[in-house]
Amino acid sequence: MCGTDSSGSSGPYNGTSGHPVARGSNPYQPVADAISNVHRFKIIESTLREGEQFANAYFDTTNKIKIAKALDEFGVDYIELTSPAASEQSRLDCVAICQLGLKAKILTHVRCDMRDAQLAVDTGVNGLDIVIGTSSFLREHSHGKDMVYITKAALEVIEFVKSKGLEVRFSSEDSFRSDLVDLLSLYSTVDKAGVNRVGIADTVGCASPRQVYDLVRTLRGVVSCDIETHFHDDTGCAIANAYCALEAGATHVDTSVLGIGERNGITPLGGLMARMVVTSPDYVKSKYKLRMIKEIEDMVAEAVQVNTPFNNPITGFCAFTHKAGIHAKAILNNPSTYEILNPEDFGLTRYVHFASRLTGWNAVKTRVGQLGLSMTDDQVKQVTAKIKAMADVRPIAIDDADSIIRSFHLTLQNGNHAQNGAANAVHKEVAA
Ligand SMILES: [Zn+2]
Repeated sequence: MCGTDSSGSSGPYNGTSGHPVARGSNPYQPVADAISNVHRFKIIESTLREGEQFANAYFDTTNKIKIAKALDEFGVDYIELTSPAASEQSRLDCVAICQLGLKAKILTHVRCDMRDAQLAVDTGVNGLDIVIGTSSFLREHSHGKDMVYITKAALEVIEFVKSKGLEVRFSSEDSFRSDLVDLLSLYSTVDKAGVNRVGIADTVGCASPRQVYDLVRTLRGVVSCDIETHFHDDTGCAIANAYCALEAGATHVDTSVLGIGERNGITPLGGLMARMVVTSPDYVKSKYKLRMIKEIEDMVAEAVQVNTPFNNPITGFCAFTHKAGIHAKAILNNPSTYEILNPEDFGLTRYVHFASRLTGWNAVKTRVGQLGLSMTDDQVKQVTAKIKAMADVRPIAIDDADSIIRSFHLTLQNGNHAQNGAANAVHKEVAA
């Protein structure tokens, strides 16, 4: 449903504390369109396949099982594993994960080759993601096969996988640099042969959102099966491309945790969730355990020895930190002024930065309250001036700002005592 279902009680600002309902129409509504699947997409999580191609990745069996279980609990629809043809251990890990009895369907990603398909079927997976390069680059420089050969090989493998009662996806590699007529006629053929999904893969990360929209929209008119999409992030478009693909009628998006994969990786799971929870809050919040994102990202970051980037959606260390005085004031009044995501949805908290020269007295007032101190607005303005003066001299930490506040408060109390003392003395004199 695309219309106005998210503008009222189900919008991103409903009912969650700190994010009051926005009045009027919701400006974050996607284009209402019958082919759009932004409210009903599925995730094929490929940390254990694409992610294994990340330069730093080495997942042992224990780690793979831990990651698979976490992704399953998070709620991904599919978990894609490295081809069992890659190595004997890869095959054994595939078997082990299939035996965990997860809710997510288990897929493995194999070349369009009968021997690989046989090996994969024997591991107990729910489905096979079959891939073959169709671009002229890959046909000339990689496998050297023509389209007639590719079509014949595809049909043979598809028929075999279907005869085993498993799901089958057929994908080209480097789809955006493949001949459009070749691509559409191949996909039309495999669609008629009964594949569950065809896959569009931007293997080199060259596509822009508009190109994605055009290709997926065209393909949507040619096949009746589901459409899976896979976007590399070489030019920074992986999340936007995935979103555009869904708008154009794609049904499935490939992700990996933190986006890890070949080169600089693919559409990140967390970043996609950030995008989709704004577009489709009811669907996303009811289907995926968003509060697990940080835990899962930390788990994978540790396994592959990287840090979460500072500008990562949701979990970047400053993703919910507000610094400028004007922002802080508005945020304290109503968080949705400068926040499209609600940190509470992810089990995180917002932080209003008050230890800088850009701070404003509203932020400092909140901090004074957090420290359990009481001051008048005039006094808060005075201590804010002290914090800004110090921050003009050098960068200050929270502790520095806190001590300025505390010592100012102490001075106020001493001043009060002194005044009270003086008043008492006067009183006594008068009495005497
Ligand atoms: Zn890839």
